[in-house]
Amino acid sequence: MRRGPRSGLFTIVAVHSTVRGPSLGGCRMWTYDDNRAAIRDALRLSEGMTYKSAVAGLPLGGGKGVIVLRPGEPLDAKRRRAALLDFGETVERLGGTYVTAEDVGTSTRDMTVIAKATKHVSGLSRRAGGSGDPSPFTALGVVHAIEATLERAFGDPSPRGRRVAVVGLGHVGLRVAQLLARAGARLVVADIDRGKKAEAERLGAKWATPAKAMTAAVDVLVPCALGGVLDHESVPRLQAPTIAGAANNQLASADVADLLRAQGVLWAPDFVANAGGIVNISVEFERGGYDPARAKARTALIGETLRRIYDDAAGAGTTPLAAASALAARNLAV
Ligand code: NAD
Repeated sequence: MRRGPRSGLFTIVAVHSTVRGPSLGGCRMWTYDDNRAAIRDALRLSEGMTYKSAVAGLPLGGGKGVIVLRPGEPLDAKRRRAALLDFGETVERLGGTYVTAEDVGTSTRDMTVIAKATKHVSGLSRRAGGSGDPSPFTALGVVHAIEATLERAFGDPSPRGRRVAVVGLGHVGLRVAQLLARAGARLVVADIDRGKKAEAERLGAKWATPAKAMTAAVDVLVPCALGGVLDHESVPRLQAPTIAGAANNQLASADVADLLRAQGVLWAPDFVANAGGIVNISVEFERGGYDPARAKARTALIGETLRRIYDDAAGAGTTPLAAASALAARNLAV
């Protein structure tokens, strides 16, 4: 943790694991009540990145960056740039143990600013030789996860004719919905932003409130908004027999995985299904540098990983969450 000399703001980097390679995780620019809350967030998120990369078999560890904004103190453009440069300097001091990327509150363009202070940056624009916006790859990975999940539940991976509810039409959710519409799925979509309703019409999808879409009688539920949507209250109301989506931390607590299993709902662990973005970034570290075709091929492996996790879970009589965590632990064993 370091106070930035230019901005006066605190910058934090958490390195959870470097067992498989440099720790990688986005830089979150967010308002916290105090620094302890920001540190806790960085530690928790860095741990999540370790498992996400390990389960995907990537040569990366888990880390996370935070630029701590103060409540009631909005940043003007100059101070924002100063904070990004301060953060870059913090990253540089770690000498490559941590590599940053974009996250909530930062963008591909911000990575170009951070890159003025450190070379340990990923996710630069494609024009600058980086892997660019990760969202399309996250969306593609989610579609592979949906196919693997449909195959397990219905014996056929094709979304054609399947009823699908996509909740959250943001960067990832909208693209998932577009890919599924193209593949012939029958869509219900929802967002708290009613401005997204026009997108539903363009997709030929039904528009619903988020609460209705969550409990719709569909073949697969695709949560693409915020975390914590699956808990002891919402799960008993679900009608979908399968769930596979992009949202991080979908389970309010780990025991919800048991509840889902007891109810006969097949849940694709979020950190497996939404790894496409980090898979795309990992291609930057391969010999020959970034190549979108290779990134696409690597993202398709998310489906294979998930099939293996479903096999392991069925074999051991456990939940997909337990099987995915065990796979991550095996990949982290030294
Ligand atoms: P985004 O901010 O672009 O989109 C989120 C969308 O969800 C917005 O349209 C918002 O209006 C909507 N929303 C918010 N609360 C809602 C609610 N209660 N009900 C319905 N809709 C709601 O974010 P994104 O980049 O598309 O990411 C979506 C999720 O996927 C997040 O949980 C994110 O952490 C996760 N994720 C994203 C990536 C990526 O590459 N962008 C990678 C991994 C995980």
